[in-house]
Amino acid sequence: MSPQTDQLYILLTNDDGVHAPGLRVLEEALSARWDTVVVAPDREQSASSHSLTLHHPLRVQQLGEKRFSVDGTPTDCVMLGMHGLLPRTPNLIISGINHGSNLGDDVIYSGTVAAAVEGCLLGGASIAISLVPSDDNGFDLRQAEEVACAVVAETIRNGLKKDYLLNVNIPPGPPGSAKGYRVSRLGRRTYREGIFKDTDPRGKPYYWIGGQDPAWVGGEDTDFKAIEDGYVSLTPLRLDWTDETGMGLLQGWELIDINGCGPAERAEV
Ligand code: MN
Repeated sequence: MSPQTDQLYILLTNDDGVHAPGLRVLEEALSARWDTVVVAPDREQSASSHSLTLHHPLRVQQLGEKRFSVDGTPTDCVMLGMHGLLPRTPNLIISGINHGSNLGDDVIYSGTVAAAVEGCLLGGASIAISLVPSDDNGFDLRQAEEVACAVVAETIRNGLKKDYLLNVNIPPGPPGSAKGYRVSRLGRRTYREGIFKDTDPRGKPYYWIGGQDPAWVGGEDTDFKAIEDGYVSLTPLRLDWTDETGMGLLQGWELIDINGCGPAERAEV
């Protein structure tokens, strides 16, 4: 990958849909300085995770010279953007600015993060950017815009690197209200979501996922703590999920030394 900024080509996407204010802000701010293109879902795809559309064709609509919408997931958008839809291959993929945080375990469910992961898998440097809502559920995008520009500029200044995958969360508030930047690790949710059960008008039960306030555990160095303390959280992520400790434990399995996996060998245990 070339670190030269004159070859820089930035793909912008999100999971809130092509018309979401967070993507608009990102597009306006970054296109003033760099060569950008938008390829985003035609509707909201939040919590779509890394799903890929394989069972029906995808339709692309060109909304402007450098704007495309796709009737698919964020992952579909990045796949198309990196493979053939555009005149050349983007080398920096930015997903956001998401309407809501993507902290800790959220990254597993997040369509915003999935788009960044896909960009990274396909060889680009990737950044996922999310804005935490204020207590009254407001989204003031001005500070997020400044942070996004600063993080993108610093990423470019350091040279685009392969396997670069950065998860950025921005605290709520007006410009200048964040205390600064903090490098963090993923925290853990103590519980993910509540399940709401009720009965529909025909007397059948239904279940609705969601509802509970997020609670988290983890140390001072977590992304949750950074946001709680009023900092922009910067968490580098990796694609390789391999657990080295787990590899060591499995090497101790007697099963590993047995030649063959047939029932005769297992019966001896
Ligand atoms: Mn979203």
